[in-house]
Amino acid sequence: MISGARTPLTVNLTGLRVAITGGANGIGRVMANSFVACGADVFVSDIDEKSLAACGLPGMRADAGQVADCEAFVDAAIEHLKGLDVLVNNAGIAGPTALVEHVKPEELEATLRIDVESMFHCSRRAIPALRAAGGGAIVNLSSAAGRFGFPLRAPYAAAKWGVVGFTKSLSIELGPDGIRVNAILPGPVDGPRIRAVIKAKAQAAGVSENEMTERTVATTSLKAFVTQQDIANMALYLASPFGATISGQAISVDADMQCTM
Ligand code: NAD
Repeated sequence: MISGARTPLTVNLTGLRVAITGGANGIGRVMANSFVACGADVFVSDIDEKSLAACGLPGMRADAGQVADCEAFVDAAIEHLKGLDVLVNNAGIAGPTALVEHVKPEELEATLRIDVESMFHCSRRAIPALRAAGGGAIVNLSSAAGRFGFPLRAPYAAAKWGVVGFTKSLSIELGPDGIRVNAILPGPVDGPRIRAVIKAKAQAAGVSENEMTERTVATTSLKAFVTQQDIANMALYLASPFGATISGQAISVDADMQCTM
């Protein structure tokens, strides 16, 4: 397989106006920096004010779990960027790691609110601006958990399957306006987030973190973690003219994941 550091896809996106939720850390931050590297103008949201200040990107604090914050973020992005061509609905939380019978209702509710309902609210607010731009792209972050069942992560899986249903429905509504809507389904992306999930799963299963890491990688035919840059590059591709005829798709970037654990 391809190993080593990945670089941003080389594509000229000069002047493309891009709003990204959850852009202060992780995949969202790599995406934002990659769009900037390609010449795009970016505006990000995040709930983590410290990281937002540290990331050096234009943006604002907005909680994806609050309807008013979603609307305020999209409005601010449109104002800052003087219009909008691309919305990346990236913000997400892992949700609880527990058997369904032990999941608290408020944990389920928060996971669905942040991981799928936020995409609905941000997209709803962004659509008139995308239409006014003469077309554009919405990229939603789902997960391999939106393609498989995920034991001990049912709230997350329910949200991420929801993202795919939302994506495929919205793409049909917006196709006539030249607005393309796609979902990216990352597999195990190396970084602090997956390490925390592995730790929680290891504890729940009563095995070591090393054992759980090996089990995670063993679910892929490439026996590998995905990088944040791999996901960012797919977003760049979908937002660029290369993606001109790609819409309504749930695209896995997951080292060929074959199963969950
Ligand atoms: P991350 O935790 O590293 O970063 C997520 C960002 O979203 C953080 O900056 C965080 O502060 C922000 N955020 C969290 N809750 C928020 C809220 N309520 N409002 C606004 N911002 C909020 O996660 P990541 O790995 O970069 O994941 C990004 C997306 O990719 C998520 O939707 C996640 O579900 C999806 N994904 C990640 C993986 C993986 O292995 N990392 C795999 C599949 C899917």
